[in-house]
Amino acid sequence: MCPLNPIDTIDITVDDLAKSYSNGGQTEQIFKDLQLEIKKKSFVAILGPSGCGKSTLLRLLSQAETPDQGTVKLNDAHRNNRRAHIEQKPALLPWRTALQNAYIGGEIRIDQDKKFRENYAKNLKEAFQEFHLKGYENYYPSQLSGGMQQRVAVIRALQSEPAILFCDEPFSAIDFVTRLELDTVFKQKCRDLTCTTVFVTHNIDEAIFLADRIIVFNKERPCRIVADIPNPHWRNFTDAVKSRLTPEFNALFEKIWGYLQ
Ligand code: ADP
Ligand code: MG
Repeated sequence: MCPLNPIDTIDITVDDLAKSYSNGGQTEQIFKDLQLEIKKKSFVAILGPSGCGKSTLLRLLSQAETPDQGTVKLNDAHRNNRRAHIEQKPALLPWRTALQNAYIGGEIRIDQDKKFRENYAKNLKEAFQEFHLKGYENYYPSQLSGGMQQRVAVIRALQSEPAILFCDEPFSAIDFVTRLELDTVFKQKCRDLTCTTVFVTHNIDEAIFLADRIIVFNKERPCRIVADIPNPHWRNFTDAVKSRLTPEFNALFEKIWGYLQ
């Protein structure tokens, strides 16, 4: 049997990455000498305190921003460059309704086939139901709450069937109970898509439920990885509420809590 080519098993490679910002004459070194590899089809949670650099890292990974030094390589050239980025502040088109905004996810697909087009409207309708947006399809973004806008952005990204999905706290503006339900739906969708997912959050529970690997950053300058924790129970956690009650979940919580303090 042929051994797997390592290039085929890694989707994102970060090499010696450095990034700084200048604010009011002061230079803030957010990252320096950062190394990271993310496996294809994995679900990685990026966890860290507010302001540590999570959104900056995600923008660098999705190539929305360029590093000062070092490189970020995405191994998705062979998959029609299919990647989606759900930003912390959902960027919806104000002149389009919620449904029309979500519709963009499919519109931008250059590889639409007959089956995709036939199923698209049905899938979209179902997604509005699953993400608790049924009845809001014809609302404009200005008529939706922040949490609702986030969910439209999530549906839009999922509808594009990305090979790599970058998410920046997509459920942060959603109440606790609904968030647990949405995390459950979202995880299943990502598993169905078998996309590589990088998910930024400052919520430990969310990271443990969703991700097969949890990378914890600190707030030092430059910001560093303080823990890189595999989650062997990831497959068994299929319900965000029930998972929280298991000893495996609590053990991981305690471990991560220790790093974040
Ligand atoms: P997090 O997402 O972890 O809350 P961010 O990545 O948004 O953190 O920000 C990390 C640091 O970088 C913060 O100190 C923030 O002020 C700074 N920063 C982020 N984006 C910019 C920018 N475009 N210009 C200047 N400073 C920025
Ligand atoms: Mg952020």
